[in-house]
Amino acid sequence: MPELPEVETTRRGIFPHVQGQNIAQVVVRESRLRWAVPADLNQQLEGRRITDVLRRGKYLILPCEREADVRFLIIHLGMSGNLRLVDKSIALKKHDHIDWVLDNGLILRYHDPRRFGAVLSTYDWQQHELITRLGVEPLSTDFDAAYLYQRAQNKRQAVKNFLMDSHQVVGVGNIYASESLFQAKIHPAQAAGTVSEAAYQRLVTAVVAVLQAAIEQGGTSLRDFRQSDGKPGYFKQSLQVYGRAGEPCLICKQSVEQIRLGQRGSYFCPQCQAMR
Ligand SMILES: [Zn+2]
Repeated sequence: MPELPEVETTRRGIFPHVQGQNIAQVVVRESRLRWAVPADLNQQLEGRRITDVLRRGKYLILPCEREADVRFLIIHLGMSGNLRLVDKSIALKKHDHIDWVLDNGLILRYHDPRRFGAVLSTYDWQQHELITRLGVEPLSTDFDAAYLYQRAQNKRQAVKNFLMDSHQVVGVGNIYASESLFQAKIHPAQAAGTVSEAAYQRLVTAVVAVLQAAIEQGGTSLRDFRQSDGKPGYFKQSLQVYGRAGEPCLICKQSVEQIRLGQRGSYFCPQCQAMR
């Protein structure tokens, strides 16, 4: 599933190819995504110029201008979506649901086998119902120990689920939550309200480091956003604890354990991440 680093990598990957381009044509082949794609998406967007590619959480926001009139295209990759730039000569694949044909001859192509993604458009993206409920951006200065500590007060929810709750912090998915808690030496099932502010400080440092490392790794695959037969390059992460149940902890050699929290596999070292 595309998580925040993959979405940020997508943002950086498509930006140089779409920024400043006019949308000549919009082709919607399948409108049944998580929410219906607007039936008049082509009328809303054709003839507009894409001026930027923004990201909020796992949403990509593309301002599309026609003179002073700015409409925003909102794209979410869902569970299995991707965006890539292809030449007009590239044959359609199954699940290639939406094309934005650009003036530079390239097509921005949305592909989503499971159709849990979203493609919407709005005039005020910051007030859009999907956006207003989002918590803090983990790569912004608003994300700090004081914020987490205050939001966690009296919460009995497992700290891992708290960290993955997009109303608290956006875009920290299952893999990155496991990795961050390991680096911060916090047991994933500990009640969020019992985690100290000092431990949240370690967690903030870990989340930022884990996400930034993944984004940097993704940077090496940017060229893949524009390749002839292109699947975009979702990158292989180097994982310290996730998926390593039964293998020795890289720090203390104790066996990594797996538990389920909120229906998600959670990996931790019982020694390094002792319950407090
Ligand atoms: Zn350990």
